Amino acid sequence: MSRNSKYKQYQQGIERFLFIKKHFSETTIFHALGCGSRTMIAMLSSLSVRFFDSSAYYKAAFFGEAVEPITFCSIGKPNTKPECKQCLIKQRTPHSDQTRINYNLRETFKEVQRCKCALAEKKMKDYLQLRLKPKHYELIVQYL
Ligand SMILES: [Zn+2]
Repeated sequence: MSRNSKYKQYQQGIERFLFIKKHFSETTIFHALGCGSRTMIAMLSSLSVRFFDSSAYYKAAFFGEAVEPITFCSIGKPNTKPECKQCLIKQRTPHSDQTRINYNLRETFKEVQRCKCALAEKKMKDYLQLRLKPKHYELIVQYL
């Protein structure tokens, strides 16, 4: 997938979600299916989606790709919760399909945990700025 089509997919995902969101009350809890990437999970978290499903981690593993680990918890020092320690664990590079699937799933869970921490600390915008590529940050920040 080219960089440009990825950008377009993020843009379309955000626009679709915002179109749907305006038909619901402020307190509605959203569940996003088929997020496609950890970047999309981070972006949708900032727009109030609270549950995620994505098979991207599996598809990536199937095509021989191990997702890049990101080893920070929220934007500052890790919190003292046990989940935050999990978030900082560096996994060994996977060598088989099975270990790659587990590895990618764990990295995806870490993204969700980091988003939860950033939201709890009210630092989602800072998190996105640190976490995303500049042009993806510019895309999402206009909606925050
Ligand atoms: Zn944390």
